[in-house]
Amino acid sequence: MKRIFLSPPHMGGQELEFVKQAFESNYIAPLGPHVDAFEEEFSEIIGISHAAAVSSGTAAMHLALRLLGVGPGDEVLAPSFTFIGGVSPVIFQGAELSFIDSDTASWNIDPDLLEEELTFRNKKGRLPKAVITADILGQSADLDRLLDVCNEHHIPVVSDSAEALGATYKDRSAGQGAAFTVYSFNGNKIITTSGGGMLASDDGALIEKAKFLSQQARDAGPHYEHTQIGYNYRMSNIVAAIGRGQLRVLNERVERKRWICDYYRKALADVPGVEFMPEASYGRATRWLTVILITPEAFGADREAVRQALEKENIESRPVWKPMHLQPVFKGAPMRGGAVCEDFFCRGLCLPCGTAMTEVDLQRVADIINTRQKKG
Ligand SMILES: *Cc1c(COP(=O)(O)O)cnc(C)c1O
Repeated sequence: MKRIFLSPPHMGGQELEFVKQAFESNYIAPLGPHVDAFEEEFSEIIGISHAAAVSSGTAAMHLALRLLGVGPGDEVLAPSFTFIGGVSPVIFQGAELSFIDSDTASWNIDPDLLEEELTFRNKKGRLPKAVITADILGQSADLDRLLDVCNEHHIPVVSDSAEALGATYKDRSAGQGAAFTVYSFNGNKIITTSGGGMLASDDGALIEKAKFLSQQARDAGPHYEHTQIGYNYRMSNIVAAIGRGQLRVLNERVERKRWICDYYRKALADVPGVEFMPEASYGRATRWLTVILITPEAFGADREAVRQALEKENIESRPVWKPMHLQPVFKGAPMRGGAVCEDFFCRGLCLPCGTAMTEVDLQRVADIINTRQKKG
């Protein structure tokens, strides 16, 4: 049986044509016409007026924090239920992390807990320098609510929308409205450039600065002059060419991801002890990953048993993100709440949902889960 991967890259067809153009013009470099065009086309799609294409989502987050002036002695609040690349740049900047639990409606940072934490910190005179929100697993956080809570204390918000390109929040794209929004084109994301990221903001001057910092902070002039330390974070013209091709199939990918999730919902509707990640009423999720929660008492086996049953049939599935407050590397970091995201980790399984999967593939996965349940 051929291996079914969790969420492999899926090229649309035009990528190679754009890459060919890059070869023909010999722009095999960072910068070049595809980088500019990719940024413009991307901005247009997400409705945020300026964007800087960089080498990864992690790099984009790092630039955002640096531009907000996060540094040693500062604290940054972030959801615990996220991927490390969205929070490790806080440590790159020499600042400290403090984590917040998720809500059950969206699985994203709980606005009530964030409000509690900020009120508590305000009283102690220890407000954070920035708040990171994340749009996890293809679903937007309740951004307006989160912005209200943060605006009250004049704290800037960075939206980590790496997993939610193509998702909407109210009538706009997920992440729109934050000071900075971060995206990723890593291999498993809804569209990929093989690796890459984007930093977006409505503040054009800040995005110009991000571009400057991402190219070793080289000052203007014929020789190499440096008055600040920068990074080598710029996206290459070849990578941007792939991105332009992928942007053209983004909507198709979103529709297919949603269709796959619906397929599983129907196929597993009668299986006791299986529930799906909810879709919050304020937006439209992409279902970047289809995630189920398995309740062992009702299902008859736990998440790990199901994962192993799939693996035995050469099918890749994966536990959802292990919360950051449980990671050895963040041992001792402050955490508000925790039971909600710990439960997601305990019971949550990401099912294979590559957009090139066929109905036969999907049914194969569903049948194995069904059979595993009956075995108890
Ligand atoms: C993928 C991801 C990132 C990091 O992106 P890279 O391009 O892999 O560096 C950050 N945050 C979240 C939530 C992600 O899923």
